[in-house]
Amino acid sequence: MKNPLKIKYLVFTCLLYVGCSENPKQKKLEIEKEAREPLSIIFMIGDGMGLPQITTAFYFGENTPNFQQFQHIGLIKTSSTSNTVTDSAAGATAFSTGKKTYNRAIGVSKDSIIQETILEQLKKKGYQTGLISLTSITHATPAAFYAHVLDRDMHEEIAEQLINTKVDFFAGGGQKFFNNRTDGKNLFTKLYENDYHLDTVQLSKAVLDRPNAYILADDELPSIIKGRKDFLNEATSMALNYFDEKKAPFFIMIEGSFIDWGGHAENSEMLITEVADFDRTLGTVLKYVENHPNTLLIVTADHETGGVSVGKFYETNKSTGEKKEVPEKVAVYFNSNQHTAELIPVFAKGKGAEVFQGIYENNKIYNKMFEVLNNN
Ligand code: MG
Ligand code: ZN
Repeated sequence: MKNPLKIKYLVFTCLLYVGCSENPKQKKLEIEKEAREPLSIIFMIGDGMGLPQITTAFYFGENTPNFQQFQHIGLIKTSSTSNTVTDSAAGATAFSTGKKTYNRAIGVSKDSIIQETILEQLKKKGYQTGLISLTSITHATPAAFYAHVLDRDMHEEIAEQLINTKVDFFAGGGQKFFNNRTDGKNLFTKLYENDYHLDTVQLSKAVLDRPNAYILADDELPSIIKGRKDFLNEATSMALNYFDEKKAPFFIMIEGSFIDWGGHAENSEMLITEVADFDRTLGTVLKYVENHPNTLLIVTADHETGGVSVGKFYETNKSTGEKKEVPEKVAVYFNSNQHTAELIPVFAKGKGAEVFQGIYENNKIYNKMFEVLNNN
């Protein structure tokens, strides 16, 4: 027979435990304590995501877009040192290093001098680091946060630099730059030597006491219209849980890569579905920021792609060929299949969000992040 006293004690401690964890004062203390800890930064880039792209989330989605939640909004000027219309390499390098540079440059200044990135600087300070992309993890946008090469197409060199940077959690594509290289090296072996939990098939559970690498496609992942499921949102949740359990401050860059590709392809369905996917992921991140007061979220883009406008929808009468406006609908139009020089919105939430209001150059985002970090 079981000891009734023991059971009574167990019930009592259970009640006590439940009582404590639901105590609002205790919860408030926990949140206040966390608010004093070092600031974590979540940096989301919708590649090619200008205001018209964001607008599609408001007309084509069923729910109110998560973008609606922002109160602190600014605009950036995106020109690079070589071109009025930037590319993703110069755009991301401006964010990651605070230096404007020439188109195609990765982590180097306009004089080709290596510039330390915010990810590298914070890693040195003991931060956890993360990168999530839909393209190869060596592609321009993620690469600009850890690599330093003269040209964005130097994928094999970039892959080696990723391993040397020892990013704690990364997810994307690009297997061929690791295991099918012109120099014959196998960088998967290098990842194992560096103690990585590596998965090339799926987003398996992250291992807490090891760095985690998910390289899930030979080159880029598929777009949503080609069958990608919830990768961006899932990888983002996993990374945030991983950092949360490690109880260390972190810096992560999350890229919605194919908004840009939808613009290049002048494919409105691709554009709309990729913006929706990005907004869904944004919802997950916003919830995290609400529950973690020592976090700063910045959402922006490197440039707009496609010269997109959201305008009148017309239906063509099949027999007469006559075009008639459908007043309750809108259509997406492309003005080009290239990047444009439009000002780009910046959305911020969490600690220091107000600093991101105003109209400024894209490289000032780097300075503003450090302004918030230093004032914390
Ligand atoms: Mg990109
Ligand atoms: Zn592009």
